[in-house]
Order: sequence, then C-alpha cells, then structure tokens
Amino acid sequence: MAVPPAKNTSLPSMSADQPSLFQSADLLPEGKSVAEPQGNGMRVARVMLEETALELDYLIPEELSAKIQPGTRVHVPLQNRRGTAVVLQLLDESPYGNRLKPISSTVGSRPMFTPSLLKLAQWTAQYYLSPVHQVLRAMLPEAVRSKPETFLSDSHLTLVQPPTADALQKLHKNAPIQARIIDILQSRGGEATLSQLRQQLPSATQAVHALVKKNILSRSEVRVERDPFQDEEFLPSAPLVMTEEQQAAFEKILQCLDSTEPSKPMLLHGVTGSGKTEIYLQTIAHVLTQGKTALVLVPEISLTPQTIERFKSRFSERKERIAVLHSHLSQGERHDEWFKIHENRTDIVIGARSAIFAPLQNLGLIVVDEEHEPSYKQDENPRYNARDLAIVRAMLEKCSCLLGSATPSLETWQNARSGKYTHLHLTRRTDHKNMPLVRVVDMRLEKRRQKDGVAILSEKLRVAIQKRLDQGEQTILFLNRRGFNTAVSCMECGSSVKCPECDIPFTYHKAENRLICHVCGMRSMPPKRCPECKSASLIYGGFGTERAEATLKITFPTARIARVDTDVMQRKNQLRDTLRDFRSQKTDILIGTQMIAKGLDFPNVTLVGVLNADLSLNLPDYRAAERTFQLLTQVAGRAGRGDIMGEVLIQTFAPHSPAIQYARRADYDGYAEQELEHRQHFGPYPPHTHAVLIGSRSKQASLAEFTLQNLATKLKKSLPEGIILHDPCPSPLAKAHGQYRFQMLLLADKIRPLLAHLKNVLSSMTFPEEVIVTWDIDPVSLM
Ligand code: ADP
Ligand code: ZN
Ligand code: ZN
Repeated sequence: MAVPPAKNTSLPSMSADQPSLFQSADLLPEGKSVAEPQGNGMRVARVMLEETALELDYLIPEELSAKIQPGTRVHVPLQNRRGTAVVLQLLDESPYGNRLKPISSTVGSRPMFTPSLLKLAQWTAQYYLSPVHQVLRAMLPEAVRSKPETFLSDSHLTLVQPPTADALQKLHKNAPIQARIIDILQSRGGEATLSQLRQQLPSATQAVHALVKKNILSRSEVRVERDPFQDEEFLPSAPLVMTEEQQAAFEKILQCLDSTEPSKPMLLHGVTGSGKTEIYLQTIAHVLTQGKTALVLVPEISLTPQTIERFKSRFSERKERIAVLHSHLSQGERHDEWFKIHENRTDIVIGARSAIFAPLQNLGLIVVDEEHEPSYKQDENPRYNARDLAIVRAMLEKCSCLLGSATPSLETWQNARSGKYTHLHLTRRTDHKNMPLVRVVDMRLEKRRQKDGVAILSEKLRVAIQKRLDQGEQTILFLNRRGFNTAVSCMECGSSVKCPECDIPFTYHKAENRLICHVCGMRSMPPKRCPECKSASLIYGGFGTERAEATLKITFPTARIARVDTDVMQRKNQLRDTLRDFRSQKTDILIGTQMIAKGLDFPNVTLVGVLNADLSLNLPDYRAAERTFQLLTQVAGRAGRGDIMGEVLIQTFAPHSPAIQYARRADYDGYAEQELEHRQHFGPYPPHTHAVLIGSRSKQASLAEFTLQNLATKLKKSLPEGIILHDPCPSPLAKAHGQYRFQMLLLADKIRPLLAHLKNVLSSMTFPEEVIVTWDIDPVSLM
C-alpha cells in the first residue's frame, strides 16, 4: 500500500517560494529523544533511506568529506544491516549529537541528483502526495540504481615497438596470429581495440597477451558505450528557411529565451504539419550557442526512428552529444545513456515521460511536444504528469519551457488564453498546403445498406481507397482496437464471454485462435458452448485490426497491405521496417492502431480513413470528447503531406457529435469553447476545477467498497469549502486482474486546500491489508 508522505502541510504552488526542503522532525523513529544541538563543528549529512520515507542523520567521515554533497547516494549502517540512502542536506550539527554513526561509503563517483532535481523530487512528492523516497526511486532508471557505473570495457592496443622486417618474417612462421595482429595494427596506423581485432581475427586474445608481454604492444582498458544508434548513418540537414508565421513565433521564443526575466511557459499552438518541429530544432540550436543544454520530451509512441533521425541529422556534428531515453532501450543502453548525461557529455536529451528527470545540467530549454498526450501521465506511484513537471522544473532551473501541440489540452489552452502562458500560433501548413478535406460517413445508413450487418468499410471509403490504388497513391486506415472479433456473445442468454479475472469481454484473435483479455492478457480456448447457459449458439461480433485487414484483403485482392499493432509488431525493428516499406511505397495500405496515429510524415499518403471514430467517444469519462477530437485531428494530419490534396473519411454512428463535427472543420477554438462550456455545465470539471480520483481495489468487493465509503465519510467531515466529493461507485472497469475496483472523484476550485485535507485524512487512517487505496492528482483518465 502507498504510504502518505510525512505531515507537511505547506504544499507549494508553482509560483510560491520553494518550501524549506526538509522538515524531518516528525519522520524520526519513535523512542529517540531529541538531544540538544551540539554545535561543535561536526559534519553531518541528513539522508533519506531509499526503501522507506525515513530521514536520518549520519556523520561524514573525513575521507569521504569531499565526495558527499546533497544528491550523493550513500551506504549507511542501520540497526543490523546496511541501507542505501540519498544525502538531502549537509549540517553543522544534529539533534542526535554524539550518538551518530558514520556513513559507510558512497555510491558512484559524483552526486546522482542535482540540487534542482532534489527540489523537483520534493515538489513532486508534495503535489502528488507520494513519499519522497518513492519519487527519488522513480527518478533513476533501474539499471542506474541497481548497477551504477557498470560499463562495458574494451582494451585499447597500441603498437609501441614494431618488430623489424626480419623479425616479422620469423614471427609469421612461428606465431602467425601474432604476426597477423601486427599487420592489422600497422594497416590501422598502429592502434586498434581488442574487439576490432577480434572481428578480423576471432582468436586474437591469446596472441595479444603474448605481444603485450614482449612489450611490442601496450594495452589500456577503455570504457565502451552501448550506443543504440551505433550502426546508423545520419545525413546532415541544414535549418530550413522559415515561413512568415514560423519566423514570427520563433522570434517571440528567442525574446523569451534571451530575456533576463524568468520566462513564462510558452504554448506553440500549430496545426499538424505547420512546422513546429522545425521551430524546436532552431530554438535548440540557439540554446546550444548560449552554451546551454536542451531537454525534449516526446510521447513514447512518437519516439520513432524518424523523429530521432531529425534531431541527429540536424545536429550531426555533435550527434554523440545527443542522448535518447525510452523504454525500448536495453537496460545496458539506458544505463550508458543516463551516465552520458550525468557526466555532462550531452547537450540534448530526447526522451519519453521519465526523461523529465534526466540529470542534465545548465538547462536552457525544455520542449514538450504533443503536450496534450495522456501518456505523459505516469500510471503508478508517483502519478506525475511529465508535462506539468516540465513547467515546474523549468521554473526551478530558471530556464524556458516550450509546449507544442495541434490540439492543446484544455488546461494548457486556458492558461494560454488567460495570459499565464505565452500563446504562439501557427495556422497554416508549411508551403501553404491545404488542410485535408474531411468528410464524415454516417454508418447508421451504411449498416442498413450492408446485408451481413457488419459495416467495416463503407461504400464511400471503399471507393476512395480504390481510387488511391488506381492512382498509385497510399492510404492509412486507423482503428484503435486489436484482434479479430471484439466480443463473443450468446444468442440464447445474451451474455458475452468475459475474462474470469476482469470485467470485460474477451477479444477473439484469429491467427492464434484464442480469446485474449486486453486488460490482463489471459488467454483461453474459444468455447464451444456459452459458459453461462451452455447453449451452442455463440456469435462472434465486432471488429478489430486483424479482421479489418482480412476484409481489406478480400475487397482489394491485389493491394499490398500491412498491419501495425502490438500483435504483429513483436520483433525488434519490425515497426521500423514496416514503416520504411510504406515510405518507399512497397505497400499501398497501412492499417493500424494508435501506433500509426502520430507524427508519421508520408508525402504519398492522400487518404486517411478512421474506421470507427466512436471507440473513444463512448468512454465513460468527461475527457471522451477531448480524446476523440485530438485523435481525429492527429490522424487527419497524416493525409496530404505531399503535393496532392489529402482526404480524410471518418466513419461514425454519431455523425453530429461536436467532437466529430469540429474535427471535421479543423476548428480547434470552436471545439474548445464548446467543450469548456460543457465541462462547466456538467461538473464543473477540469480545467474549471482540479480533480483527484481516489480508487480502492481488492479481491473482496465488499471490502474495497467499504474502505472507500469509510474514507469518504472521513473526508466529508470538515471538508473545506469549494470541494465537491462525488459518492464512491464501481469504476468503469469494475474488475481487473481479479480485483474489484471502486472509485470516487473529488473536484476543487483550488488544489492546495484539497491536497492538505486529503493528506491529513489519509495519514490519519490505516487501510485493511487486503485493500489497495490509490490517489491520482489531476487524473487523465477515469477508467
Ligand atoms: P509539425 O511538427 O508541426 O507537425 P513539422 O516540423 O514536422 O511540423 O513540419 C512538417 C513538414 O514541413 C516537414 O516535412 C518539414 O520538414 C517541413 N517544413 C517545416 N518547416 C518548413 C519550412 N520553413 N520550409 C519548408 N518545409 C518546412
Ligand atoms: Zn448463454
Ligand atoms: Zn483479464
């Protein structure tokens, strides 16, 4: 169970002064009486244990004194074992005086946390009501925490005493491998690494050893980095001449960057294809000329090779000084990339959510691309939003923060409108290409028309695809659901076959001939009879990408079709290869889930089809319309990137819903106004208020429900003004992984009093062991 942080009611707002960092008196283990301060000039470190939220004081031994600073990781003696801790603060005295034990050793050669990151940890802990030690843990990649500074090494060999020609000839007879090594080294200017040698001479090791002994070679150990892009070539790219709009936005950004005043966050609000990335690149170039560094956050899903290539190419002369952090790296690669940043060998870091904690120093700029993306929210403790932490970190580091989006979150949009953020607009695509023509297809009519009752492909979309095939142009089809059939239901009793662990229907995957649960992953054989009533009349309904692909193959037998979803993209590099083939026009139609919704830029794609726009629209969440609008806008942005006008067809059963209609007209402002009004009326929901979602889950439904009821009762007592507490109810996903789930929503005008109240109540309660209680500040999903 999550442990609430120690009592500390001073929750800082973003503009408030940072709270005094460590108020540790109430964290001390019970039974220790506070002694008088000694003031005798000792050197004391106040540390936080990594495993519990406990702050303790230790003496700094003379020999470690140079290495210990705030942010250093250390080993400390505990009762009868050793613990790992982070130094928070250096003190001249401690209330525990002479009873302090010394720190045993340091971990790593330098502090693992910069002073700013320590402050960010504290802010994160206070805002998200998460214990500091948990935040500190989340800040370091696993491999860095568990095996710091374990680098691969190699031997660097130098030919120091080349043998005479005679000697070499003799060597060729007596020790041919040694002679070959000398030949190779001579051909390489007298130097090589052992692994380079081994590529030509797999059995070189022994012979190298002998040559070193004879003083013909010298050998030194060097560190080898696991570079995920080692084999890639990056052709240099020059900055583009900006359009007028780009130039205007860029100049404003530079003004903010060069100002001596602390700058407001900036929102670069530009339609898809308006050249936002180009602006990031040139802004970063400017930051580098000031001798500062830049951090670029990108949603995991857009961290494609194409994105990384754009950065590596633009900064090709310092491509070694770019680090990339994302979840597809191996542990070793992530370790090495992290240390590259830590040792100040990088100027630019590109990464997904957790890269917000990258230990860059001397930051000049943080960019958050697609700032509205829900994937910036961490879905386990600490439940931070990297976009929001970017703004906080920029404030702490006194650097600029640039948020970019075609469809900003309403929170950000409101901040930009009210003047809290600088609002920059790009309204046109570069080269003034037109926005694609978007048409809505009413599937209610289609369904009547089609005999078998399943409308996967409307007649309009079929004709449009055929036209592209005839003209040698390409099509992207989007469907955010995997599998063949999305439900197996019983004609007799009406029930659908559900996962026994979760409260959702199984999805049928045809290639594997299995039912698969999309929540817990459980697999099961398709049943012959209904599990409820034993009837044999089961029907398979609904469609996912697998079935849509099958339908396409029948409808367009000669077309070359590729599918992109997590079922088919199992192999490493498969996504890259599939996209490469599509780019070089070896495929005509690409069908996929949200993996293809973002960021891809294919000039020959002139048609984009959305097979079922209603999937996100029907979610039981006040953000459903927002998600739909964002998704449709993003997907539509994939069409007409080249010279030919693009077309988008959206299939829906709700053609008149505002999210779809505003997306059709590419009218962000109209949509946002309408949506804000809607949220005021039905909530008031964020951004008019702050939300906190409290959840409870347990294998015993009644226990989960009771616990939440109990918490609700406590919260209602002395509830500060301006806070609305919704009653606990089953979560939309009422059971998952065998646990029953309940939730309640809190809404507040101001977040501070709500957090303070919540913290007080949470720390006064203990929950039954069988129940997990979670709290999510500013949730992005109510599922
Ligand atoms: P966004 O990030 O807003 O979607 P991009 O920066 O990816 O837009 O730009 C879209 C396309 O336009 C890219 O192919 C990019 O190379 C090109 N582009 C951007 N700026 C310019 C410019 N000033 N002149 C010509 N092409 C540009
Ligand atoms: Zn049945
Ligand atoms: Zn399940």
